[in-house]
Amino acid sequence: MAWAVIGTWRMSREGCAKASEILKNNGDAADAAVAGVCDVEDNPSFHSVGYTGLPDKEGRVKLDGGFMDGNTLHFGAVGSIEGFRSPVRIARSLADREFNNFLVGAGAEAYAQSQSFERRDNLTPEIYQKYLEKKNAVKKLSSYSGHDTVCFLALDHSGRLCAATSTSGLFLKDPGRVGDTPLAGAGFYADSLIGAAAATGVGEDIMKGALSHEVYCRLKAGMSAMEAASSAVYELSETLKKRSGACRSISLICLDSRGRYGVGTNTSFPFVYAAWNEPLETWIAEPDGNAVRIHLPGPEDLNLD
Ligand code: ASP
Repeated sequence: MAWAVIGTWRMSREGCAKASEILKNNGDAADAAVAGVCDVEDNPSFHSVGYTGLPDKEGRVKLDGGFMDGNTLHFGAVGSIEGFRSPVRIARSLADREFNNFLVGAGAEAYAQSQSFERRDNLTPEIYQKYLEKKNAVKKLSSYSGHDTVCFLALDHSGRLCAATSTSGLFLKDPGRVGDTPLAGAGFYADSLIGAAAATGVGEDIMKGALSHEVYCRLKAGMSAMEAASSAVYELSETLKKRSGACRSISLICLDSRGRYGVGTNTSFPFVYAAWNEPLETWIAEPDGNAVRIHLPGPEDLNLD
């Protein structure tokens, strides 16, 4: 039976290898997707997720994370949570509850504390220094001036699809700002019978298109994974340009129920994919009209995250 995993950005490569091992050994899609995200949350070299995440305007690292189980459609999410090691693990545990699946701020922290989730100060001296240097210099938040979300989608041998996400959100965001990452339907969506999708980029624009659910609807209507992802991102970008003059950077990954991937993007976008029939590889997706061109990274792509 097929398995597959896809992750956003180069930072997901090691996590993708870990998730692949789990899936190869008949492991569960939820464990694989969460393990992939946790790898990035714990890695101090990546400054937009978990440990060494990017601070808000007040110099505090407040994190967002989401999880969805494509078998039950249960989701869990945390927004603007501070002082814990793994937002995605907390999000996953919230998916098992009947109510109160999406908690933010102090409520999320109280829940995490009550469940004995590991605490961690994610603000390092190096990142605080970066905050001090930029806090007055940055006049306007712009896309990819240092923010990215790690998203993983995994399909296991039983046909279960899961989505998991984690980010520190926009650098120098307003305190309390929450983007698309913990929002089911916008930042992620999973239905094992149809497919799963997850987004990265400027949350304010991703939310305008409820993008992950939009891709799910296109899969359900019979589009291929590539068509669904690329057409949804292209159409949202064009709509926002027409209606409000601009669309900031947005990218999206999806997996259909057979593990075939799709990508949509309006900017150069690296992602990592592995499957039962394809070795783990980092790819670059480029917008190409209303479609997307996929190629192996070249020297010109070295500066992409
Ligand atoms: N989507 C994230 C947010 O808006 C940030 C990112 O993926 O770059 O919080």
